[in-house]
Amino acid sequence: MKLSIALIAHDEKKDEIVNFTIAYEHFFNKHNLYATGTTGKRIMEETDLNIERLMSGPLGGDQQIGARIATGEMDLIIFFRDPLTAQPHEPDVNALLRLCDVYRIPVATNSTTAELMLKAIEHGDFEWRALIQK
Ligand code: PGA
Repeated sequence: MKLSIALIAHDEKKDEIVNFTIAYEHFFNKHNLYATGTTGKRIMEETDLNIERLMSGPLGGDQQIGARIATGEMDLIIFFRDPLTAQPHEPDVNALLRLCDVYRIPVATNSTTAELMLKAIEHGDFEWRALIQK
């Protein structure tokens, strides 16, 4: 199944998400990818992945991804947050995470959780859509 996956990273986490997407390029290149502006630019510069870039997070990119969650267009969110730096768009970050919970969309806020999610999907034992519909 081809998933729609959103990739977002705060500035201090951008190197980490780039390294993560390099390590899992073989996984990501099988899916439809979306990202906030700068995150998407960095990943596309350093991998061969094709990503639909939305606006930069602080300028509305998080809200664009949130809107796509609400309309059922997102299957998985990978959002490497920086927990040590105040973000001007904290309300947008909270709104995005809230919508993930409203719609039961899996969201990884750090690389270890993201890796576990990808491994589960690769093993084919993470049929959350089927679970929700029961
Ligand atoms: P950016 O946005 O990828 O455009 O930097 C990420 C964010 O801070 O939400």
